[in-house]
Amino acid sequence: LYVDHPLAASERVALSREQAHYLFGVMRLDVGDTVALFNGHDGEWEARIIAAAKKNGVLECEAQTRPLQMPPDLWLVFAPIRKERTAFIVEKAVELGAARLIPMQTGFTQAANRLRQDKLQATALEAAEQCEATYLPPVDPVQRFGRLLDDWNPARRILFCDETLAGTPATLPTEAGPWAIFIGPEGGFTEAERDRLRGMNCAHPVSLGPRILRAETAALAALTLWQAHLGD
Ligand code: SAM
Repeated sequence: LYVDHPLAASERVALSREQAHYLFGVMRLDVGDTVALFNGHDGEWEARIIAAAKKNGVLECEAQTRPLQMPPDLWLVFAPIRKERTAFIVEKAVELGAARLIPMQTGFTQAANRLRQDKLQATALEAAEQCEATYLPPVDPVQRFGRLLDDWNPARRILFCDETLAGTPATLPTEAGPWAIFIGPEGGFTEAERDRLRGMNCAHPVSLGPRILRAETAALAALTLWQAHLGD
């Protein structure tokens, strides 16, 4: 269970109404039972329920069961698409160990104005709980393509998923260190955006195979590919 609270021995954590409903109403837990807690930075803790009511409750941390495990330093920079498909990207990116998610407004991005950062962060949280991660990747506010690259630190390499390379043999990067995967929107990157990325020394254009993948499939494939080659 995720809690927005420091976790340490004997630390008491008050539950929100939703959490109390989930633990006592849905999971049928009660005083004396234990729950695994994480907050994204203190690892996982076993906590005992010391008070349980319909709309609230208190847990007390007993012992750390796992240390914080940081994913590799890999960001996913993606153009938001339709709501459910963007949520799918976020969910799978968390499962596949992305450390930060950056929605990006490109020339052909339709959905950026309607993007709800809070909802996507909640999706990331659910995914982290689901896959028992101890780290919670942040979901940034939407950033403009140009602005993002103006401020780009070249020490972070870019795996530029370029659909115009579809069918050319993929050359996979071998350099370790911080990386970011770039995935375009439904309509792909514009010619100017492609030129800009190709002109950056830190960018590595890559094909994800001979067919044009949907943006969410491309994100999943690129994350898997990167993790298999450079992840730990
Ligand atoms: N129209 C489809 C859709 O609605 O999802 C296709 C979208 S594709 C243009 C979206 C992005 O996925 C591209 O900008 C690129 O980043 C990535 N992509 C898709 N297929 C790819 C491939 N074969 N190689 C490299 N990148 C690919």
